[in-house]
Amino acid sequence: MRIPDKVVASVFEPLWDRYEGSLRLKTLTKLNDSQWQSPAAYAEHQNELLRRVITHAVATCPFYQERFTAAGIDPAKVSSIADLAGLPLLTKADVRENQSRLISSRYEKSQLVLAKTGGSTGISLEIFCDRQGVEMRQAAALRADEWSGWRLGQPMAAIWGNPPVPRTFRNRMRKLLKDRIIYLDTMRIDSAAIDNFLGEWEATRPGLLYGHAHSIFILCEALRDRGLTLNPTGIVATSMMLIESERRVIEEVCGIKVTNRYGCEEVSLISCECEEHRGMHLNADHNIIEFLRDDGTPCAPGEDGRIVVTELINFGMPMIRYEVGDRGVPSDRTCACGRGMPLMEHVTGRVADFLVATDGARVAGISIIENTLTKLPGIVQMQAVQEEPRLVKVNVVRGDSYGADTEQGLRQSMKGFLGQDVEIQIEQVSQIPQESSGKYRFTICRLKDQATK
Ligand SMILES: [Zn+2]
Repeated sequence: MRIPDKVVASVFEPLWDRYEGSLRLKTLTKLNDSQWQSPAAYAEHQNELLRRVITHAVATCPFYQERFTAAGIDPAKVSSIADLAGLPLLTKADVRENQSRLISSRYEKSQLVLAKTGGSTGISLEIFCDRQGVEMRQAAALRADEWSGWRLGQPMAAIWGNPPVPRTFRNRMRKLLKDRIIYLDTMRIDSAAIDNFLGEWEATRPGLLYGHAHSIFILCEALRDRGLTLNPTGIVATSMMLIESERRVIEEVCGIKVTNRYGCEEVSLISCECEEHRGMHLNADHNIIEFLRDDGTPCAPGEDGRIVVTELINFGMPMIRYEVGDRGVPSDRTCACGRGMPLMEHVTGRVADFLVATDGARVAGISIIENTLTKLPGIVQMQAVQEEPRLVKVNVVRGDSYGADTEQGLRQSMKGFLGQDVEIQIEQVSQIPQESSGKYRFTICRLKDQATK
């Protein structure tokens, strides 16, 4: 028997939060109110949180104590992000080399939640966040999900790599009562997987279609070729650049607009389109987002620059002026929806082709990276290039703990994804550069007829 969506939203979701002692839905209620405040009220709110987080960071994280002292910045005299212009950006190398010195002495590492991330640039990092920060991050994601037309309580369909299998009683209950999610595993998309997904779709009737932008496109393209449609109430495309031509295919097959969302695991959600779909609203409740020229000065509206985020809600491992690695364009337009958070126009981030397994199944490049980079020790950054059906070159930037085990693990994983008789050539490189457009290309498929898919 199907539990009505409204019962899930009004009974099981709040009960689950109470059981877990979580701030998630309380924060969602606050965020649903705060989004209508004026831009000036937002700025004031951000400045207050900024002062709190930097005071905390300088008092409890040796890394920031040194950084602020060296830059000659007194936290007590900071009133807005402009006062931090002289503070060097927090780079991925800083995070990797100073992990313990970035963690606040107010927390035990064991109290914090670890996110191992492939990051926006394919560089592996370990980021910790305190529990309240995680719950607030979840609330911001839920608010953005609701902008797509999905409503809390409706089931979801995720186009994602490695669907989790609930093993504990707690997680099985959670799946049954509230997280009613079906998956299309992007580690293996073929007709049988799509048939199975469509069967589950019929039985579950998801409200939200959610996943990597390019993977949603691959699904919708296959459905279009079969003359089929889907009927979600919202579509959230995330984690990758949403290409305009791909967006059109998704919208044709689903009959509704795609909600483009941008974020990375290291900090809270960065920005998301509202129902107007004209630019993305910055998550000004939880982040201060700067767009910087190469000389470090702020971009003018409409000018492309480096995206730098100061997260206002992670006190476990504060992220202050973190350089995400993507580029974006700030905007001074106001949105017709009436929300007070500023807009950004456009983001240039990661792209990743699907690779093709020897049996013809397609494997999402982004999932390949997530399943190797974050799981094997010692890989700093990587890129996989399928030169021929049975030849994949993997460019690897090695870290200190890279060893024979890493290399063997990488080879085995790649063969497991693509086929045992695929030759894997691993090459050591010093870096994997951004393309001139600003894109990071995680995987490249050079097979004819597949390169654009
Ligand atoms: Zn809007």
